[in-house]
Amino acid sequence: MRDRPAPTLRRRRTSLLRQLPAPRAILRGSLIERYKRCGKPGCKCATGRGHGPKYYLSISRSGEHPQMDYVPQGYVEQVREYLANYQRTREILEEICTINRELLRRRERL
Ligand SMILES: [Zn+2]
Repeated sequence: MRDRPAPTLRRRRTSLLRQLPAPRAILRGSLIERYKRCGKPGCKCATGRGHGPKYYLSISRSGEHPQMDYVPQGYVEQVREYLANYQRTREILEEICTINRELLRRRERL
């Protein structure tokens, strides 16, 4: 970053913008897998790891317990994709901020 000329930084920024996932396709949190024992006498789950997997979206906020939303099987792949999009969006925004800060330090055109 430090040794790259300003036009290179701006080109990198343009390239990052093009890689931004669609802002509507994001989810924050993490996908959790759960196996549950049903408690019915004689069910094979009593000795195994339980029924499942069932999926939950776990969302944490500072100072609160994480919230768990059940995710139906048909949504799991899309939820994975949206979670990845959110992470990628954060990385891209962070790198753009770093570029802008560097341009500012050099008194270059933002
Ligand atoms: Zn069972």
